[in-house]
Amino acid sequence: MKALVTGGAGFIGSHLSEALLKKKWKVYVIDNLSTGNIENIRHLENSKLFHFHIDDVTNEKVMKRLIKKVDVVFHLAAAVGVKYILDNPLDSIRTNVRGTEIVLELANSFGKKKVFLASTSEIYGKNRGDRASFKETDDRLLGSTTRWRWSYSCTKALDEFLSLAYYREKKLPVTIARFFNTCGPRQTGRYGMVIPRFIKQALLNNPITVYGDGEQTRCFLYIDDAIKAITGLVDEKKAVGEIFNIGNPRGISILELAKRIKKFTKSKSRIDFVPYEKAYEKGFEDMRHRKPDISKIQSFIKFSPKVEIDELLKRTVKYLER
Ligand code: UDP
Repeated sequence: MKALVTGGAGFIGSHLSEALLKKKWKVYVIDNLSTGNIENIRHLENSKLFHFHIDDVTNEKVMKRLIKKVDVVFHLAAAVGVKYILDNPLDSIRTNVRGTEIVLELANSFGKKKVFLASTSEIYGKNRGDRASFKETDDRLLGSTTRWRWSYSCTKALDEFLSLAYYREKKLPVTIARFFNTCGPRQTGRYGMVIPRFIKQALLNNPITVYGDGEQTRCFLYIDDAIKAITGLVDEKKAVGEIFNIGNPRGISILELAKRIKKFTKSKSRIDFVPYEKAYEKGFEDMRHRKPDISKIQSFIKFSPKVEIDELLKRTVKYLER
């Protein structure tokens, strides 16, 4: 089998490429290295089955050449990270909308076996102050368009609609996955992600910056579990035309996360509370709780997260220490 992994030098993309190579797939990666990192795939470059192209998914000519060659397209390239979205609003919208349109257009015209679209739990917005979990069919609740955070949710919702439209009208076999917070080695804190940020702060004995009151909760899935979910879904015929949550339903508050990271790194860091306005921008809206309902994916494939939060943190600390 041959795959194109867009965004393959990113955190999830590089782990996915590695897993596909282990299964003896031929893997083509396209990444513009905007948030991805060449170091994430350096160790794959020795493999004869691996081909890396530094380019943008909006470059139609290159995409045409690559998509033509492969059986399956894993479309992971996207502007990601709350901080990155706020700092690069135009580029984020363009990459997420135009990039996906090009992938789907070309995959359809070449009659590809499968397209896997990476979507996000941001889709659900700020619903669920009540700690209940999100089901794929739940309503979405977004703030005003003057709150930039929500642009990401809108672009990915459009990506989902586009994919489903290609499936309904053209029979393009598409599977959509909404990733909840995912973490592990190779994730960078540069674009906002809380765990690598806290670990880096702790290792340097700098203040750990908890935004808001720290009582907001998130559920973190370890990268290896995420990869198992992706490959499982792509192998499952019945998953075509469907949307799935991918996440770990067990949650933790951000303050508790800061305390555990401080403990595991034996850090002397203070824990500082930073108002959202100062951390991001005026009027920034966060979601209080975000938890996946994973019953749908579990009814399609064998999936149950194996690595829990403490082990996830220890493995990520070990990576960042190096
Ligand atoms: N957060 C924090 N300090 C940081 C970065 C993030 O307290 O340095 C908080 C953020 O406000 C959110 C949670 O951690 O409530 C998770 O943030 P992240 O950006 O990792 O993912 P999100 O769930 O917001 O997409």
